Amino acid sequence: METKRSVQLRASAENTVEYLPVESREAIAERLGVPPELIAKLDANENPYGPPPSVTTTLASLTDLHLYPDPDQRRARAALAAYTGAPVERIVLGNGSDELIDLLLLVSIEPGDEVIVPVPSFGVYLSRPPLFGARVVTVPRLSNFDLDVDAIEATVSSRTKLVFLASPNNPTGNLVTPQQLTRILRTGTLVVLDEAYYEFAGQTLQRFADEFDNLVILRTFSKWAGLAGLRIGYGIFPPRLASALWRVKQPFNVSVTAQAAVVAALEDRSWLMQRVMQIRLERGRLYRALRRYPFLTPFPSHGNFILCRIHDGRAHELHAHLLRSAIVVRRYDDEWLRDYLRITVGTPEQTDRILAALDAFR
Ligand code: PMP
Repeated sequence: METKRSVQLRASAENTVEYLPVESREAIAERLGVPPELIAKLDANENPYGPPPSVTTTLASLTDLHLYPDPDQRRARAALAAYTGAPVERIVLGNGSDELIDLLLLVSIEPGDEVIVPVPSFGVYLSRPPLFGARVVTVPRLSNFDLDVDAIEATVSSRTKLVFLASPNNPTGNLVTPQQLTRILRTGTLVVLDEAYYEFAGQTLQRFADEFDNLVILRTFSKWAGLAGLRIGYGIFPPRLASALWRVKQPFNVSVTAQAAVVAALEDRSWLMQRVMQIRLERGRLYRALRRYPFLTPFPSHGNFILCRIHDGRAHELHAHLLRSAIVVRRYDDEWLRDYLRITVGTPEQTDRILAALDAFR
């Protein structure tokens, strides 16, 4: 008689922390019973202005969609080398910077290694390492969310493989300082400095990548370039790591459309930077307005988002209240951020809608 056997999954796949994903705009619209275009989607730090016209025109005229993309990503990497000033050999693109995080873990983690994550931070840093056999060690940030460098130094041991730092940090919005970065680099561990929101901050620590061969810089086109849907991330890697990534990455990890969009977006950089400036201005207006509500405390941010502490345990209630006005912001269910909401900075009209909804919150 045939016996039914259930598939045995790897323990890491059964047990990993689930990263609370954001819902698509269509799914939210369906659930709320409103047209998708009425939703103010301010939960994923997307860019409401989208990509520049150069990208739309280029994608519409692509003729080689029947061919696989360039596995060496030559044109896109050359454009990125010009944009960043980094040597082209050190640049690798990924299917979103999310993929580069996975690839980094894939080439570096041995069973039993530890990965240090100053918390709160981007949820992917917590959820992915265990899938590769690493143990995540969290180090709480100070009360203003600055890095506790003493605690990080004390946590680095012979088992530490890498430290994830985001600057600006998602969701707290603060920057890593040159002094903090140097101290952590001097421990000798690999430091992944995720500058996903660099263009909104106007500040980068990329120069340290020339000096330290244990520093990786990660960036994305999802935020400043309005291309989250195409999935484009890139990194500036130490040469040894870059060659390892070339060996292990899927050959066609970045699509023809994504590679063409990188080149086109960088050609229309001034259009993009004008929108970035608009978002930065709007961030200031939203921050100042948020300070007027007694039931929340906003934190200053260098990203395109503002984290707010919601008093009296009302974060999820406020999230639901905003949702009734078709405004979606990010809520959390982990121990560090249960009392917080993160609001993506959108258009002036979207800010007006948030403020009107907050005015009506009792
Ligand atoms: N790093 C940080 C800090 C982020 O906030 C995000 C997006 N939420 C990412 C990386 C992922 O970006 P991508 O869309 O390129 O995968």
